[in-house]
Amino acid sequence: MKFTKYPVMPAPWKLNDKYFEKFILNADIQSKITDLAAKINTDLAGKKPVFIVVLNGAFIFASDLIKKITIDCEIAFVKLSSYKGTQSSGVVQQIIGLDLDLKGRTIVVVEDIIDTGLTLDIFLKTLAEMEPAEVKVAACLLKPEPFKARFPVDYICFSIPNEFVVGYGLDYDGLGRNSEDIYKIV
Ligand code: 5GP
Repeated sequence: MKFTKYPVMPAPWKLNDKYFEKFILNADIQSKITDLAAKINTDLAGKKPVFIVVLNGAFIFASDLIKKITIDCEIAFVKLSSYKGTQSSGVVQQIIGLDLDLKGRTIVVVEDIIDTGLTLDIFLKTLAEMEPAEVKVAACLLKPEPFKARFPVDYICFSIPNEFVVGYGLDYDGLGRNSEDIYKIV
């Protein structure tokens, strides 16, 4: 008996009660990061920037990005949170603070994803009180539709539709951060 061969659809990824499908492949992320890092290396040459990585979600993106930064720089970490499940709670908690003197410094805030922008907006206001010379924002993903804040997003890999995504550091209820690719909710 002869069977027609159809392309095999990959099975969706199940995380707790939700299903996710492949959305952005790691190879495409890496290629965007290479371009982004080259731009940062040029723009901020001689400025010895401080990269402030927003935990938890940005840890994989920051690691890939910062490995491609060739200018002198420092790295610090801050933990903010406004999400529970697939909805922003709108409440920002700063759990791990900053212990660097940022006065007069060039800062690059590294985020996984900017949705409404409200989490970062509050953090940027806190940073401004520390009198840095300039603050840039680098994000792997931006959702232009729900974005409500006014700060410029200086370095961005992908603008995406307003859908919940996981993988590449991003989680759903603590799961999914370990995928090298980005998935979106089905
Ligand atoms: P915002 O304050 O911009 O609305 O939300 C920022 C934070 O919410 C991000 O740093 C990220 O932790 C989380 N977030 C926003 N959109 C998504 C999403 O689609 N998937 C996941 N996993 N987290 C998201």
